[in-house]
Amino acid sequence: MYYQTLLQRFGPQHWWPARSRLEVIVGAVLTQNTSWRNVEKAIARLRQEGLLQHRPLLNASLPALESCIRPAGYYRQKARVIKEFVTYLERRFGGSLRRLFRLPMMECRTQLLSLKGFGPETVDSVLLYAGGYAVFVSDAYTRRILSRHHRLPRDADYAETQAIIHRNLEPDRALYNEFHALFVTTAKTYCHLRNPNCAECPLEPDLPPLNERLYPASAKALPREIDRQVQRGEPE
Ligand code: SF4
Repeated sequence: MYYQTLLQRFGPQHWWPARSRLEVIVGAVLTQNTSWRNVEKAIARLRQEGLLQHRPLLNASLPALESCIRPAGYYRQKARVIKEFVTYLERRFGGSLRRLFRLPMMECRTQLLSLKGFGPETVDSVLLYAGGYAVFVSDAYTRRILSRHHRLPRDADYAETQAIIHRNLEPDRALYNEFHALFVTTAKTYCHLRNPNCAECPLEPDLPPLNERLYPASAKALPREIDRQVQRGEPE
């Protein structure tokens, strides 16, 4: 039900906004703890320097890479993560993403999770949007929306959210692709961390009764729930 409602309101989101699978992977690393606008600046610089291809990226010096991705923040750390990925790709698969993504999904997921800087959300974004595997990216926005609608336990973590979604949706990569993108758009447009705009949100008809809601009636009253989310550094 949510899917059709959101699709009707926002239309297809055309994710992931990238020209190649390597660009998806680099973007998934760069987007950690920063806005997409900053990622775009970093991607534009990488493109300008010809560093969105495997071999040039592998051969690039760390300072050159750091300089390109500086707009995305944490650039030293992220440059090392990107370098570790391309080095792994070279050693294990001769630089071929096609060979990497021939692995069964769980094996590919386990291998990527073993790389420094590749947490579950980054890995699942890579698997879904670069690898074409049917895995749901259950990010903070998704958890926020579903928990506010009592579709998840209050403190469901990434893995628990993903397991619930996987139990309730067909394993369909096109559906997962679009649905995740629609959740992100919904959260950014209406379901803000502190002050959700339910009155204009297309999911409003599915809200629990007023006295059972998890978010504040006014921006001044932050319940403990949201306080914790703010402290965890969840996106606005
Ligand atoms: S803004 Fe309100 S109605 Fe929309 S998803 Fe968030 S909690 Fe639900």
